[in-house]
Amino acid sequence: MKKIKITYVTILVVLTLLWLTADPVFSQSYAFFAVRSSLINYTGIIGMGVMSIAMILALRPVFLEAVTGGLDKSYRLHKWLGITGLVISIIHWLWAKVPKWMVGWGWIAPPVRSGKGAGPKSEIFQLFQEQRGLAETVGEWAFYAVVILVSIALIKKFPYKHFFQTHRLLAIVYLFLVFHSVILIPFYYWDNAAGPFMLLLMLGGTVGAIVSLFRKVGVHRKAIGEISTLEYFTDNRVLKIDIKLKDQWRGHQTGQFAFVTFDKNEGAHPFTISSSWKNDGNISFMVKGIGDYTNTLPDTLKTGDLACVEGPYGQFMFKGKQPKQIWIGGGIGVTPFIARLQKLATENHDREIHMFYSTRSPQEDFIKKIHDLAQKARVKLQVIVSGKDPQLDANRLCDLVPDWQSADIWFCGPAGFGTSLRKNMLAKGLSPDDFHQELFDMR
Ligand SMILES: Cc1cc2nc3c(=O)[nH]c(=O)nc-3n(C[C@H](O)[C@H](O)[C@H](O)COP(=O)(O)OP(=O)(O)OC[C@H]3O[C@@H](n4cnc5c(N)ncnc54)[C@H](O)[C@@H]3O)c2cc1C
Repeated sequence: MKKIKITYVTILVVLTLLWLTADPVFSQSYAFFAVRSSLINYTGIIGMGVMSIAMILALRPVFLEAVTGGLDKSYRLHKWLGITGLVISIIHWLWAKVPKWMVGWGWIAPPVRSGKGAGPKSEIFQLFQEQRGLAETVGEWAFYAVVILVSIALIKKFPYKHFFQTHRLLAIVYLFLVFHSVILIPFYYWDNAAGPFMLLLMLGGTVGAIVSLFRKVGVHRKAIGEISTLEYFTDNRVLKIDIKLKDQWRGHQTGQFAFVTFDKNEGAHPFTISSSWKNDGNISFMVKGIGDYTNTLPDTLKTGDLACVEGPYGQFMFKGKQPKQIWIGGGIGVTPFIARLQKLATENHDREIHMFYSTRSPQEDFIKKIHDLAQKARVKLQVIVSGKDPQLDANRLCDLVPDWQSADIWFCGPAGFGTSLRKNMLAKGLSPDDFHQELFDMR
């Protein structure tokens, strides 16, 4: 989370600096309408800047994973940028509208047109001037669409499936906003870095929007496979799905995840790869029935069915700086650790690892498999049954692993559990860099 916080702040600072270098807000004498235009420019730069980066992140760019700390974090950043885009575009709209209303009501005098920023009277300038009315109208309607679509994305009561379908419409709305911005960006912005920089960002965003509209995101990272085995654990409602890939798979690190499509109408869902890669085309997932789609899988999937696997993604790869590791898997969050156990079971490692598997619904044969793997991998496993055993909080963890200071923590499980554990461990002196958390919630 630290990486995406830094990235988020950096984006806002860079966009603000760009605006400051291009806009004469501080070099001119105060006049209400001059300040208003500068603030419309500022909110325009921030709004389009964050929306363009959000569009680029929607492409699932793997090269940015090192910056954000993984695709799960990239999506969190995408969400924050979307919220920022919404808030800023509301402010942009208010600055555009309210002063006009105030003039209409006779509260303030209309602006005196000074011709500032008119720039050279080139043909392209004339062309842009002629399109201003259309660009303003397009921008206004696109703004209303952004308010509706981003609100839908944020209201979790709106089912994920429908959110996902409506979310794609944002790509079309974004393209209209690019038109609005290119026409209305002040001509003098092209004389310094702000204009070209914004153009580059919008080009990136436009590519993102088009790729997303044509459903080509991640197309080079997809492999088709066939379900080879299915095993259902009824008590904890976990379905283990083994897939034999027919296409080339680039391999994956333990702890990474993939987007898996079993049904084209449903689309892809993210699941951690619960097997280590042995270069034999076999890949496994463990899926817990928690919602309207995953609940149906035990009844609908059959061996021989085709599946499309896109990935791998993520940076939850157990590459910590400390000599020891503490792993905490809550519920289905145990999946990355199962993959890691498989890998360590075949390796000669001397790292001290403490693994905690916290579950509300202990399933004997499921736990036995993890026990056996942990033994082979030389990992100290402790199973904690929620509601029966004492809760695993920061105090208990420090008691159970007295030398926790020389360990980094890898957490995958319910968000609230992770947040409170992280907060309390940091209060005890754990470095934020030593707490690694996979974000299971993309919305
Ligand atoms: C990086 C990552 C790794 C994951 N690994 C596993 C795993 O190994 N095993 C497992 O059982 N679950 C895993 N999940 C969670 C899993 O993706 C959801 O439980 C599943 O998609 C729920 O779908 P649903 O339609 O049944 O539930 P719903 O009730 O529709 O959705 C429940 C929540 O799941 C998320 N979700 C639903 N559909 C999607 C989608 N298409 N794309 C992204 N998120 C979605 C949303 O946050 C939603 O609020 C992982 C999630 C992430 C982000």
